[in-house]
Formats: sequence, C-alpha cells, structure tokens
Amino acid sequence: MCHDCAAVNGAFSEPANETAAGETVTLGTAAAGATRRSFARFLAAGAGLTALAACTPDAPAQVPPSSSAPSTSPTVASASPSPALDPTTVSPTPAIQSPTEVPAPPSAAAAMPRKFSLTDPASPWLVVNKHRPLVPAAYVPADLVQPNIRLAVSGEAALLNSTTAAAAEAMFAAAAQEGVVMTLASGYRSHSTQVSTYNGYVASRGQADADTASARPGYSEHQTGWAFDIGDGGGACSFQPCFAEQPAAVWAKANAYRFGFVVRYPWMFHPITGYYYEPWHLRYIGVEAATDMATRGINTVEEYFGLEAAPGYP
Ligand SMILES: [Zn+2]
Repeated sequence: MCHDCAAVNGAFSEPANETAAGETVTLGTAAAGATRRSFARFLAAGAGLTALAACTPDAPAQVPPSSSAPSTSPTVASASPSPALDPTTVSPTPAIQSPTEVPAPPSAAAAMPRKFSLTDPASPWLVVNKHRPLVPAAYVPADLVQPNIRLAVSGEAALLNSTTAAAAEAMFAAAAQEGVVMTLASGYRSHSTQVSTYNGYVASRGQADADTASARPGYSEHQTGWAFDIGDGGGACSFQPCFAEQPAAVWAKANAYRFGFVVRYPWMFHPITGYYYEPWHLRYIGVEAATDMATRGINTVEEYFGLEAAPGYP
C-alpha cells in the first residue's frame, strides 16, 4: 500500500467482476499471463481454479493435501524440521515434474507448515488487509532502522524493520549489479502519519474513493516495517500505473522473491487483496515463502495462507 499516490484507481478498474465467475476469470487471466509455464499450460487445457483446488495437490512430500482445509487447522512446524524447509532444497521449478502431472493448486494454504504467526505484527507472515487490521492498531516496530540503500525519502519513511532492511540491501545491490537503479520511495509509516494520509484522501475525494487508494489507519502494511515502495533513479512514473514498465518494477517482479519479497498487490487481484495493482509495493515474507509462492504461481498472500479474500472493509 503505497497509497501516497493518486493514480492507483481508475486506470486499473478492469471488469474483473463483471462475470458470474469473476474471481476465477480474474485469477485465470492473470495466471495465464504469468511466466509459470506449467500453470498456464494447465489453464490452457481448460481447467479452472475450482478444479485445481479440488485436485490432489502435486505438492512436496511433507505437505498434507490442501483439501484438508488447512486454514482452519494450522499446521505447526514439527520439532524436527522437514527437509523441504531447507532453503537449499528449493528448486525454481519443483512443480514441473512430469508433463502428465497437474501443477500445484493455487489454493496452497498447506504449502508449508505455519512457521510464523499470521497476526503478530512482528511476524514476517503477518497478513494485513481490509479484513485484518493490525493489533494493536498503533503498533510500532521495535527494530526500525534505515537501510543502506538509495533513498528517495527521509525521516520515518526511510525506515524499515531490521529484517526487511537487510533484505532490501541485498536486493538493491543485486539489482544494481544488473544495471537496475532502485530507490526506496516510501518505507515505514507511523499510525499518526497514516491518519493524516488517509484523512487527506477522505477530505479531497470522499471516503469511498479514499478507501480504494489509502489504507485506513491501523490497516497499512507500511506501519509494520515489512513493506516499502520502490522507485527508480529518475522518478519515472513513480506511483503511477506506468511504473510497471520501468526497469525497477520489471526487475522486482522477476527477482524480488529471491530476497524474500512479493509484489503484494498484483495486477487484477484487487478482488482478493483489496487494492489495485501496485508494482512498486513490495512486502517481505521471507525467501522460503516468497520462493514457494513464485514457484507455484500463487499471486497473493491471502491465497497462499488460505485466508479469505478482502476486497473491502466489512
Ligand atoms: Zn506501498
């Protein structure tokens, strides 16, 4: 949620919900456009996500069937770590094992044992959305630091929690090695700042419109220190839809998972995330989970962790 900008709605108001099967169509469209070849092939065969979800998952051996509704019975990591939890065993393409096998289903809530809390703001797996406010609402990370990366902002917006800062440093350095300039355009945002930001939107655009562009106070990932927005060196298209075509966004979309980040609000997934496409907003969830999501073609953390869609505030 950058929500600093005024360009996140309108241009991305795709008619994803105009069909009776809106969500399936949306997911299928986005997935088919993704680079997950096996997934696209599967969709091309005419199968929908409903069928996918009903299939026996082609999952790693330690994973129970996803049909066991894992979201209501979180699996606790066993005392002896599963071999598959070793990051060194993560292959970029484990889902592609045989041309005759279907890929792992997107409803992969059982992708990994619930290693971390989904509600603790200090957990890398915290999921904040319009159905899941921060508790406490005025949470402040205990380990805010300023990462040693190229900054486009100062003050609190230049801060991240220490884990995210370290990952950002590694990612920015890797991007730079490939000639891609990346800047920190917006990092931590305190509850009081979010109050000002949100109220500003409400005053200028009304609450309904504000809710499409800015998180309500207590609902912003930026308040957790786990998320930040990127820009590029020239500021081209900052916080605008065309940023998706900029090298920084293109590189991040393809590589961020290697450093533990996901593009939190992907294209066409606003019926699930509650926000239109934000190619600049990255969220740290850890290398293991981010890689697993990328490998399996799962686009949102809501789907990955088996949580309900959060298109709007209750
Ligand atoms: Zn953001």
